[in-house]
Parts: sequence; C-alpha cells; structure tokens
Amino acid sequence: SSIPKIVILGAGYGGVLTSLRLQKELNYNEADVTLVNKHDYHYITTHLHMPAAGTDNPENARVNISKLIDEFKIDFVKSTVVQIRPQDRKVILEDGTLSYDYLIIGLGGESETFGIPGLGEYAMNIRSINSVRLIREHIEYQFARFKREPHRTDYLTFVVGGAGFTGIEFIGELADRIPELCKQFDVDPALVKIVNIEAAPTALPGFDPELVEYAMQVLQKKGVTFRIGTAIKECTPDGVIVGEGEEIKSQTVIWTGGVRGNRLIEEAGFETMRGRVKVDEFLRAPGHDNVYILGDNSLVFNPEGRPYPPTAQMAMQQGVNCAHNLVASIRNQPLKTYSFSNKGTVASLGKGEAIGIAFGKKYKGRVAAWLKKAIDIRYLFIIGGIPLVLRKGKFF
Ligand code: FAD
Ligand code: NAD
Repeated sequence: SSIPKIVILGAGYGGVLTSLRLQKELNYNEADVTLVNKHDYHYITTHLHMPAAGTDNPENARVNISKLIDEFKIDFVKSTVVQIRPQDRKVILEDGTLSYDYLIIGLGGESETFGIPGLGEYAMNIRSINSVRLIREHIEYQFARFKREPHRTDYLTFVVGGAGFTGIEFIGELADRIPELCKQFDVDPALVKIVNIEAAPTALPGFDPELVEYAMQVLQKKGVTFRIGTAIKECTPDGVIVGEGEEIKSQTVIWTGGVRGNRLIEEAGFETMRGRVKVDEFLRAPGHDNVYILGDNSLVFNPEGRPYPPTAQMAMQQGVNCAHNLVASIRNQPLKTYSFSNKGTVASLGKGEAIGIAFGKKYKGRVAAWLKKAIDIRYLFIIGGIPLVLRKGKFF
C-alpha cells in the first residue's frame, strides 16, 4: 500500500512517548504504526530500585501496554527483536519479520561491564522486572541460607558496584529493607554489611558536592559502608576483587557501574560509541533519514560538546520530538531540531529521604522525597492519565 509503515522497537520511555504522540497526532489512515516489545507490559525503570530491594512489589513498576496505547490506532506485537537490517528496511523478530518505511529504535541500554572479568557471570543488574525479581529473591535466600550455615557471614554481605544514581538509589532501599529481613529471619543486624564500591574519587561523580555529602551521611547512618576511589577489578563466585587485589567476600554483587547501548544497534552496522549512536539534530542515525534512535541508545551532546547522561527524562522528550518529526516527514513539512531541556535530577535515598536539583534549586530530605513522588505521579499521568495515577501512584 502507499500508507507509510512506522515500526517502533521497544516500549520504554522513548517508545511509549512516541507511540502516544503518534496516536494523537496522526490522522486516520495517514500511517500504519506497529509497536514491538519483548513483554506485553511497559516497566517503569525509574522505580526498579524498589522492587529490587524488596521495598515495593514489582507489580507497581509495570503497566500493561494495552492500558497505554489505543490498539485501534497502533498494532502491538509482543516479540523479541533479534536483528535490525537497515539496508533491507526490515526487522527480524524471534517469530517473524516486519518491514518499515520509518524505524524508531528505543530498545534501551545494556549493562556496561567494561570487560571486567566475572561481572557478566556472577553479578546481577537492575534492568527489568525479571532482573529485579531475581535480586529480591536472591537477597532473601541469603538470609535463609545463613540460618543453616551461621559461620557464613559472607551470605550477609551485599556488594553494590558503582555509586552512580542507580547504585545510590538501590542502597537507600536495601538499607531500609535489611532491618525487616533481620526481623523476619531472626538475624542479628550487626552481622549484615552493605558495601558500596565506587571507582571515582567521589560518589555520584559530577553531581553537586554538598548534596553528595548529604546523601552519604544519610546512607552511612543507615549502615552503608562506602569504599570510594576503589575499583572493582574482578567478580568471582566468592565475591569481588578490588583495588590492588583485596577480596571482599560476598554471595551478592549488584552491578550498577554503567549503561551502554543495545548490542543490536552495533550488530546492525550503525556507527556507535559505547553502543550508542550519535544522532543528528533531528534524532536520526547519520546516513539513515528514516531511522530515529531514542533514549539510552542515543548520544546527544550539550552545547559545550559533552554527552548528556542518558535518562528517562531525555528519552521522553525525544519521544515527543520524534513523533513530531515522523508526522512532519509524512506531511512533507520541515523537521524540528531536538534540544534537551533539563528539568532537574532528583534521587531517592530510601523512605522519606532524597536529594535533588530542580528549578535551579537544591533540595534534600523530606522535601526532596516529596518532589520525587510528584515526578513519579506526573509520569503516570502523562502516560496513563488519572486512572493510572490512581492504580499505581503511591501517595504515602
Ligand atoms: P527502556 O526504558 O530501557 O525501555 C526499553 C524497552 O525495550 C523495554 O520495554 C524492553 O523490554 C524493550 N526491549 C529491550 N530489548 C528488546 C528486544 N530485543 N526486543 C523487544 N523489546 C526489547 N532516569 C531519569 O530521568 N530519572 C530517574 O529518576 C531515573 N531513575 C532510574 C532508576 C533506576 C533504578 C534505573 C536503572 C534507571 C533510572 N533512570 C532514571 C534512567 C532511565 O530509566 C533510562 O534512561 C530510561 O529507562 C531509558 O529509556 P529507553 O526508552 O531508552 O529504554
Ligand atoms: P552511571 O554510569 O551514572 O554510574 C556508574 C558508576 O559506577 C560511576 O560512578 C562509575 O564511576 C562507577 N564505576 C564504573 N566502573 C567501576 C568499577 N570498576 N568499580 C567501581 N565503580 C565503578 O550509571 P547508573 O547509575 O546506572 O545511571 C545510568 C543513567 O541513568 C545515568 O544517566 C543516570 O543519571 C540515570 N539515572 C538517574 C536517576 C535519577 O535521576 N534519580 C536514577 C538512576 C539512574
């Protein structure tokens, strides 16, 4: 047919926002839109530190895609993408093939291990509903194991590799969960260790030093030990090797040391840096006017020439811009340049505690925690309106 085919890969922040905008802006029969995702749900990645630690139910971090998109306007295909073939304008799924005129890649990133031996095999990552369920169950299992082998205190040492925002938000939750687990399993809290290992000279490198200091104080008070300026060199079945060969024994290593682009993008032949594509000003892959790349797979530079860190905030804004440009392309109208508008950063440190910068001001403690909640609720509202806010929004 002559109706252009738009295929969106991944129903994360970028893919969902593109879909929602397209279904609003496109006229009847103006384009055929297909959204492909591995699962029939969208997960709220920015909440995953909570179900990972077990301070929240994984159900609260996922939303069925059928509740988000209008299936009269967008075809949803639940499948896993196995290959992207830009030369043929095709996408190979585990169970079929799709052809496209416009492709939007929003498959999210992958854990970056920097080639550190053992991380892929022995460490766990906070990346999806399935990966956080594993972490939660694994942590509980260590308490159960310890009761049978009380000399194995390494079962009660929890190592978090990397003190970026993911690591910091996770240890905030884990520190809240430990007392509960100790009570439940009759374990002396003094035996439990949470060790956060960070290679850089500071936690949250690049963030406001006063807020970083505050965050560390809050977390130390909850029992977290920081090993700053200490790199993880290897991960083994018995723990991690750090610095100049010191071993920290642990059966639980959560790696939050960074994100890279999805391997499918490199494999498709796009030019990448750490798996990400340096997109043009309209968010397209260079040399491919019909391929847009969003979120953790895109590389966008600030006016000073430094790459922006990949965030949900950015992926969402890109989704809106991408949808606009798709509609404009179809209507032969000029495309709109993308520029990131930073609304701020707020990170939780567990119950009732957070740090953040928003509207050009610093926030900490209860006010920051409240701000974090407001951001979460705003997101639910944007993607699912008031019904979703009422179902998934946690007001207390
Ligand atoms: P994702 O949201 O990662 O979505 C990718 C989608 O693609 C998923 O649905 C996945 O299932 C699907 N997919 C992957 N591979 C395939 C395949 N082969 N076939 C089919 N489907 C596939 N950012 C912020 O701005 N603010 C925050 O507060 C914040 N908090 C965070 C907290 C945590 C614990 C973590 C881990 C990250 C946080 N981030 C935050 C970063 C943010 O989550 C990411 O930048 C964002 O999710 C990237 O969105 P995306 O659209 O690129 O992909
Ligand atoms: P990151 O890359 O921001 O942080 C990884 C940390 O691991 C860095 O501090 C790095 O120095 C450290 N590290 C790397 N190698 C190491 C090693 N061998 N040993 C010890 N430490 C090592 O990754 P992230 O925290 O997963 O964040 C990814 C993106 O998601 C970022 O852009 C972040 O801003 C965003 N995010 C935002 C929020 C929020 O706004 N609340 C929360 C989570 C993530």
